[in-house]
Amino acid sequence: MPDDMVEAHLHGVRNALAAGWQILQHGGPALDAVEESVVVMEDDETFDAGRGSFLNRDGRVQLDALIMEGATLRAGGVGCVERLRNPVRAARKILSESPHVYFVAEGAEKFAAEHGVVLCKNADLVIPREVERLREYQQEAARHGNDLFAPSISHDTVGAVALDRDGNIAAATSTGGTLNKAPGRLGDSSLIGCGCYADNLSAAASTTGWGEPIMKLVLAKWTADRVAAGNLPEWAAQEAMNYLKQRLNGHGGIIVLNAQGQFGIAHNTPRMAWACKTVRKEESGIERGAM
Ligand code: ASP
Repeated sequence: MPDDMVEAHLHGVRNALAAGWQILQHGGPALDAVEESVVVMEDDETFDAGRGSFLNRDGRVQLDALIMEGATLRAGGVGCVERLRNPVRAARKILSESPHVYFVAEGAEKFAAEHGVVLCKNADLVIPREVERLREYQQEAARHGNDLFAPSISHDTVGAVALDRDGNIAAATSTGGTLNKAPGRLGDSSLIGCGCYADNLSAAASTTGWGEPIMKLVLAKWTADRVAAGNLPEWAAQEAMNYLKQRLNGHGGIIVLNAQGQFGIAHNTPRMAWACKTVRKEESGIERGAM
């Protein structure tokens, strides 16, 4: 995250927090809270989710999202969708209204449209900043003969975890994936247990970072399992980052919350924007590691 984007990221995560809190403070479900928080960040062009996402190699936005409910283990995911402004809304429809768990590409868009989600054009999701970023990256890669895939410079996925008054937790993650990814490439974000997981008996977790290593380690579930074994989310979040680094030289960040309201935030990247609120206090930041 470059210096000149720090404020925009902080502003974005605080807005998302406010939207989620609005639901929780009125006794609403954690599932609604994470959905609304993620919608706010998908609508914010600062982040790599919804409009303003990184572009794939062909200059198109291709989005992935997952939402999961800790009380029931119901989940809904979409992958490689190109005509949804808010893929998390479609994911929620899948969770609530389909016997299936995961839809991809045109099938996901068709399901969403049939369930009242308005489709957009892919061009509506593409912004000039990202056209320029892709052009610069591809030009630079051609000049230096680099691998035409940029995992180390493109992480801005959004995620939320929440605990409601009934003691239920939920998680949601949404992303445009990595800059210059191959069309059809699916990352960790929308895969159950990789970029997102929620189980009242363990934890809710959402990850960001280089998707391929995170997928191989099934990192969100790995972290939740450590919490189920009796460790604090704070410790599990930091351990997940250590494991990611040591096992596969991966990088990223994670937010983790259990049904007792204990939480952890950790990243092994220089920065990750986060915001959290409990009945006692509200905090947000960019550079804090495990807490
Ligand atoms: N994890 C995402 C992916 O690999 C990217 C990110 O977190 O920004 O698709």
